[in-house]
Amino acid sequence: MKKNQTPTVRFAPSPTGFLHIGNARPALMNWLFRLRHDGRFILRLDDTDGLRSTDEFAQAIVEDLTWLGILPDAFFRQSDRFSLYDAGVKRLIDDGRLYPCYETADELDRRRKRQMARGLPPTYDRAALKLSGSERAALEAEGRRPHWRFLLDHKVVEWEDMARGTVSIDCASLSDPILRREDGTYLYTLPSVIDDIDLGITHVIRGEDHITNTAVQIQVFEALEGAVPTFAHHNLLTTASGEGLSKRLGHLSLRHLREAGMEPMAVASLAVLVGSSEAVRPVSSMEELAQVIDVTRLSHAPAKFDEKELAALNTKLLHELPYEAAKDRLALLNVGGGEEFWNAVRGNIVRMTDALVWWEIVSKPIKPVIEDSTVPLAAAHKLPDGPWNKEMWSPFTWQVWTQAIIAETGKKGKELFRPLRLALTGREHGPEIANLLPLIGHERALARLEGREA
Ligand code: GLU
Repeated sequence: MKKNQTPTVRFAPSPTGFLHIGNARPALMNWLFRLRHDGRFILRLDDTDGLRSTDEFAQAIVEDLTWLGILPDAFFRQSDRFSLYDAGVKRLIDDGRLYPCYETADELDRRRKRQMARGLPPTYDRAALKLSGSERAALEAEGRRPHWRFLLDHKVVEWEDMARGTVSIDCASLSDPILRREDGTYLYTLPSVIDDIDLGITHVIRGEDHITNTAVQIQVFEALEGAVPTFAHHNLLTTASGEGLSKRLGHLSLRHLREAGMEPMAVASLAVLVGSSEAVRPVSSMEELAQVIDVTRLSHAPAKFDEKELAALNTKLLHELPYEAAKDRLALLNVGGGEEFWNAVRGNIVRMTDALVWWEIVSKPIKPVIEDSTVPLAAAHKLPDGPWNKEMWSPFTWQVWTQAIIAETGKKGKELFRPLRLALTGREHGPEIANLLPLIGHERALARLEGREA
């Protein structure tokens, strides 16, 4: 990185599916890096595969990142940038680093099998490099079009990886990678490098499944005389049973997790803290998360993502969420009652939308459940006169009221609280009655205790 250069990272998904929890990891690692270093975060859509990429998925990626709290500083799509890639190809051909090959997939496959049968590594043998001009012309006359391979330097490529320390890969053991197919379309390798150079990417943070690509890409950076960025390859998320996460696991898509009521910060906390040196816990803001974790503090083993752990984290996050942080979300759900209501119910919800359920219970008519009217009627009889204001329902008032009911009915503990709860809320479980009662209000509480819908 040059002096005074803004640290610049990118997240580069292909819009060929919905983002899932596994993609959230690189997205967040890059976003947290951007926050920590006051840098820039670029969203780059790798949509050179025109058949599988769709606008619908592109739109969904932006929406899902926004939901998660990631707001890119700039946005590019590779499909707008083919002229840059074509120029790169020309340069590599002129410099003798890209050479045309005419083998069909079948021919390559047969060759690989023969190599393996002889105990040789199944790498490309560079046969096409030896073709003479007239042999190439003859193949083209047959109607064959070339695909293009990058001539790797057979050397060891080494880099200091921010997540893994020194990594070295012997490129002599790799096939010359195909950069462009016979139909002129691009594979991922070259456009990515050209964009990283053109957009001034200083740090490439991505999953460890890209480590071999990195060795190849470093050679492409050098061939194009671009500044080689610093790399960090994080460990990948797997399912709880250790399988890799794929786009087909729809229930782990960010959309689905959002619809299931998961909080973005619960998802973000788990997606980055699991498989790290930090304890998995709910962190309430991205800024704080950026201080807690970075790519240097990840483990090398796969990180297991467990949905049950996410649900538990989500619940914990909501239980601890201060009113100020919940306020806007509650307003969106049309939940009233202010801080008093939030503090009364937050300990009993597992999803934000549960707050609406409780808001409706305290503020809209419900049918009380009366199994035996002894306790509810005594409670109605002893209920402090209304209208109530906030101050009057102190713990002391609550105690005086319940003692009076006990004195009249002789019922205590569960025998006292179950009928009160059923009458006042219509439910067997929920937040402390003492906290709900002032929110329900005198008139409604009295009616419900008397068995009337209110
Ligand atoms: N489109 C690539 C992927 O999703 C980008 C990898 C990279 O960050 O370079 O795997």
